[in-house]
Amino acid sequence: MALTGIIFDLKKYAIHDGPGIRTTVFFKGCPLDCRWCHNPESRKPGIERLMISRAAPDNPACSREATIGREVTIEGLMAEIMQDWIFYDQSGGGVTFSGGEPLLQIEFLLALLEDCRREGVHTAVDTSGHASLSDLQKVAQAADLLLYDLKLMDDTAHREYIGVSNQLILSNLKAVAVDTDRIVARVPLIPDITDTDENLDAVADFLEPLGLRRVSLLPYNKLGEDKHERYGLHGHRPNWNVQDRDSLDLKTERFRARGFLVSLGG
Ligand code: SF4
Repeated sequence: MALTGIIFDLKKYAIHDGPGIRTTVFFKGCPLDCRWCHNPESRKPGIERLMISRAAPDNPACSREATIGREVTIEGLMAEIMQDWIFYDQSGGGVTFSGGEPLLQIEFLLALLEDCRREGVHTAVDTSGHASLSDLQKVAQAADLLLYDLKLMDDTAHREYIGVSNQLILSNLKAVAVDTDRIVARVPLIPDITDTDENLDAVADFLEPLGLRRVSLLPYNKLGEDKHERYGLHGHRPNWNVQDRDSLDLKTERFRARGFLVSLGG
């Protein structure tokens, strides 16, 4: 039987999930519960039907039922990915597997990584790191780039805002931090939660002895707030303000001053 996986989106011409022009494939299912999740429809594994509100969330007349997720085969997904091979080739791009958490569908992910390598397509995997170490090691070997999310260094705050301890995520990163040029630590900047000087310094303190020098800071954006309303997750996500340019520059400089290679936004 053909190996299949469940994805909830596929974006072409992406420029923020690794080098060059990329196709980003969003896997469905995530073990975390970040309060700021910009893809709340990604959390549950499997295809689901959701009532989605339009303009007025409390008026059922403005709702519609939608299917979230679709089943894809390796062959079918590879065909979609390879449609843009010319763009990858010209821009130094490729494909990024994101989510949700792609490692939740490990066999499917590994098969895709293998096929991409055979076709000469650069691969990146965006992971929360909350996975078994052996799965993560296999992915680190099979992918060209690991985009490894680090959100909160304080374990109590991590449990409060993300729903799980950060211990597995941190110990996994230590274990795979061998080929350091192929790992980028990504920090989503959530106002007054992850973007504090204290948390950013703790991230730098953790990465420095591991020899990990590449950091991506992801400014907060409000694109996901609308989804929380429309998908009935009222009250789950506070309404934060986006960071201004000066404050983003200061945060970037904080890492740069310590010798990190920092990028803003991807
Ligand atoms: S890891 Fe990503 S997909 Fe999962 S809950 Fe957090 S923001 Fe959402």
